[in-house]
Amino acid sequence: MARKYEGKAVGIDLGTTYSCVAVWQEQNSRVEIIHNDQGNRTTPSFVAFTEEQRLVGDAAKNQAAANPQNTVFDAKRLIGRKFSDQVVRDDILLWPFKVVAGINDKPMITVNYKNQEKQLCAEEVSSMILTKMREISETYLGSPVKNAVVTVPAYFSDSQRKATIDASAIAGLNVMRIMNEPTAAAVAYGLDKITNCVGERNIFVFDLGGGTFDVSLLTIKDNVFQVKATAGNTHLGGEDFDNRMVDYFVQEFKRKKKLDISGNPRALRRLRTACERAKRTLSFLVVATVEVDSLFQGIDFSSSINRAKFEEMNMDLFDECTKIVESCLIDAKMDKSKVDDVVLVGGSSRIPKVQQLLQEFFKGKELCKSINPDEAVAYGAAVQAALLCEDVKNVPKLVLQDVTPLSLGRSIVGDIMSVVIPRNTCIPVKKTRPYVTIEDNQSSSTIAVYEGERTRASDNNFLGSFILSGHTLAPRGLPLDVCFAIDENGILTVSAKEKCSGKMNEITISNHKERMSAEEIKKLIKEAESYRVEDMKFLRKAEAVNALDHYIYKMRNALKKKDINLKLSSQKIRKIESAITVATNMLDEDHHHNDSHVLENHLKELKIEFDYIIAKTI
Ligand code: ADP
Ligand code: MG
Repeated sequence: MARKYEGKAVGIDLGTTYSCVAVWQEQNSRVEIIHNDQGNRTTPSFVAFTEEQRLVGDAAKNQAAANPQNTVFDAKRLIGRKFSDQVVRDDILLWPFKVVAGINDKPMITVNYKNQEKQLCAEEVSSMILTKMREISETYLGSPVKNAVVTVPAYFSDSQRKATIDASAIAGLNVMRIMNEPTAAAVAYGLDKITNCVGERNIFVFDLGGGTFDVSLLTIKDNVFQVKATAGNTHLGGEDFDNRMVDYFVQEFKRKKKLDISGNPRALRRLRTACERAKRTLSFLVVATVEVDSLFQGIDFSSSINRAKFEEMNMDLFDECTKIVESCLIDAKMDKSKVDDVVLVGGSSRIPKVQQLLQEFFKGKELCKSINPDEAVAYGAAVQAALLCEDVKNVPKLVLQDVTPLSLGRSIVGDIMSVVIPRNTCIPVKKTRPYVTIEDNQSSSTIAVYEGERTRASDNNFLGSFILSGHTLAPRGLPLDVCFAIDENGILTVSAKEKCSGKMNEITISNHKERMSAEEIKKLIKEAESYRVEDMKFLRKAEAVNALDHYIYKMRNALKKKDINLKLSSQKIRKIESAITVATNMLDEDHHHNDSHVLENHLKELKIEFDYIIAKTI
């Protein structure tokens, strides 16, 4: 299975709210979580556009309050979905950025970048986050990173998986494998256990993240990991807990100051940031303070909240989590006493009350907490990445077996869903089902492919269709084989063959129309490159401005020296004064127009002329 891949391969957890990247370190046989340029081990999945530049990660999230319409997050909720999808419709109502319908009903995020309107698809936004994660790992490893294992939720559909691969391609990454998040987490926690695992081990993965809640039941047997069942809520997570706290403090502000900030997005965003911080604090302390300077109309806000109050305001949400845990076990037909390990994943699983309720549900069972919950997924992905490379040593030998999250089939007469691959079938898999023509002298058949559990095909998710033509003219009942194949990434290919004539006529729908074409991807790769060039240009300009500004400061300081008149002639002093004026004007008036090299050259000239004069003043 292992192949030779160029360079180090990393594992990337592309999260809805935070992303994380990790790598397997051969020297000490362990996984390293790679920190970003801010020193953080997870990076916000945020991209922002301003009049001057594009920002990704912490920098984008930090300016969200000032620029809400052009700060994009939650791209993972859009990826591989259509604009008319009800889930998308509902999400749009909650976002401060604009989303419109594009070609083929593709949702397009609309932002203003450098005073121009720009439309981006979800793949493009995700690719910017993936690029950031790639750059973070390249800085750390000191070499180019081209290959990665990227994780997705277990319930991600065929088109969502494909779109994730496309986003990676735009980011210049080859996806070695798309891995299910719970499988990755189980690998992270299970590493030491599997080596001495006797018989079957049942692992329950509890993933409470920023915006979603996913639970999965896996079994490990003879080093094989298998997802048995999944359940969840796509709108339950840390952001909901933040919102509850925001509402609470909005009321408090109203009571105390007789002012309502609920209609002010900027104030709300700043309060939300403070609340998120307080929520994190409450996971290890019993009281946290919430302070926002000049929250509204110049009034500072300062208050505190204790853990009990936080738990009380979120109790119904925490209870909802327990209900979903129960439904997953029912779905898997497994009694909770049969679960061997309960694994905590997602930043919000750090909340003590959540852990307490979960432990009570599993009758006091110890929860697995040895790995940071918001790093477990990237951790497992890094192990998988190393396993797939033939030249990496010391990786524990595991085999990872995933299942299809939804049934796959085609529609037959009467809009009936005829299932070819039932849900929870192990992948990779290839299944062929025989069909027959339904009319005499039928010359062609339409194969319409759906995913889902409803009996009426059109109630399920339509994936694509194709026509198989050129049938042998015969009475109805002419045999026809339809084959569904899913590869190890969970990607589906459907083909059909008319058996009677022996003539093989095969068509696949592996790149149905929602999928980006190679051309489109190429175009976006080029665009990504131009963003990179612009980012570099911006950085160079910012550095040039800073350097010149610093030199002006140095010149001013020199003039402030007490005995300056003794050290420099009045002519030199005047020269410095006029140089300060010229340089300051350059920065002030022409800030946006001067190219960085103009500023750099000016600084060079100043240095030649004044370095030695300034030295005299010291
Ligand atoms: P994603 O859904 O993107 O995978 P993560 O698993 O990284 O997200 O979880 C992010 C969420 O976890 C955020 O809402 C964050 O506020 C929350 N979080 C992180 N650390 C803590 C903590 N110590 N206590 C409570 N919540 C936390
Ligand atoms: Mg996650």
